[in-house]
Amino acid sequence: MRERNLIWSFLLAVVTALVFSPPQRIAGQTKPSASESAGLPRSLRLYVIDCGTLHITNTERLGLKKEEVATADLSVPCFLIAHPKGTLIWDVGAVLDSVWNPVGHPVVQHVMLPDSQERDVTVVNSLRAQLAEIGYSPSDITYLALSHYHYDHTANANAFSGSTWLVRQVERDAMFSEKPPGTTQPSTYSALRESKTVILKEEEHDVFADGTVIIKSAPGHTPGHQALYLKLMKTGSVMLSGDLYHYPEERVLDRVPTFEFDAVQTRASRVAIEAFLKKTGAQLWIQHDLNSNQKLKKSPNFYE
Ligand SMILES: [Zn+2]
Repeated sequence: MRERNLIWSFLLAVVTALVFSPPQRIAGQTKPSASESAGLPRSLRLYVIDCGTLHITNTERLGLKKEEVATADLSVPCFLIAHPKGTLIWDVGAVLDSVWNPVGHPVVQHVMLPDSQERDVTVVNSLRAQLAEIGYSPSDITYLALSHYHYDHTANANAFSGSTWLVRQVERDAMFSEKPPGTTQPSTYSALRESKTVILKEEEHDVFADGTVIIKSAPGHTPGHQALYLKLMKTGSVMLSGDLYHYPEERVLDRVPTFEFDAVQTRASRVAIEAFLKKTGAQLWIQHDLNSNQKLKKSPNFYE
C-alpha cells in the first residue's frame, strides 16, 4: 500500500512538472526559432553530468594493485553534447533513475548484476533531474551513444529509446545475444532493440557532419567500444575516453584490465587513440578518473 502511494505521488509530481514547466526561452524573446525551442545552442556545448561515484574494492580486476592507484573509486559521468543541429547523450550512468529518489545529499545504491556481481554506487541527483535543470527531457535528445555496454554506462538507456542510437554492429549483437556478456544489465537497455538505429561502420562517425563531434572506434574493452572526440571553440579539443582507461595509472604503467573482450585489441586501440591525441592536440578525459573528474565544471555549467 505504501508502495502504491509512493507510485501515485511520483506520477502526480511528474504530471505536475509536465503541466507547469515553462517552455525554454531565450530571455527577451517570445517566439523562439525551431532550434531554440528545442534548446539548441548557437555553438557546441559539453555538459558534464554527475551520474555517481563507483566504489571499487578490487582494483586488481583493472590491472592495478591498490597501492598503485591514487584513488580506487571511479567517477561515473554522463555527458550531454548540445550542437546547433541536435543533441547527443554519451553514457547514461550506473544507477537507474526510477529505482531511487534524490534527497538532496549523497546516497549509496547497491547494484546487483545478472551475473551475480554487486557494486555500490554513490549518487546525488538523477540524470533526468540534471537534464531538466538545463532544459532537456530524454525525449528531446537526438542521439544516444554508449561508449560500451557495461552496466555503469547503460543504466538509463531505455529512457532514450526515442533517440537515434549510434552503435557498432558487433556491440549491438553482443548486447542482444542469447547469453549477454558479463558486467551488463540487459534490462536497462532492452528498449533500444526497437530504437531507430544507425550502425556505425567507419572508424570515425562525424555525428553532425561538421567535424566537431566524432565517435571513434576503440574496440577491445568490448567488441564495439568507442570514444568521443569533441572540437570545442573555447576549450579546444577533448577526447572522452569511454573505458579505454579507467585510472590514469593504467595509462602511465601500461596496464590492461583483466576482463577485456580482447586485450590485444585494447592495446592497439590505445596506440591509435594516443597517436590521434598527439596529432590533434586533444586532451584525454578519462571518464572514470575521479580526481580529474572532480576538477571539471559540472552541469548546469558547460564547456564550449
Ligand atoms: Zn565503466
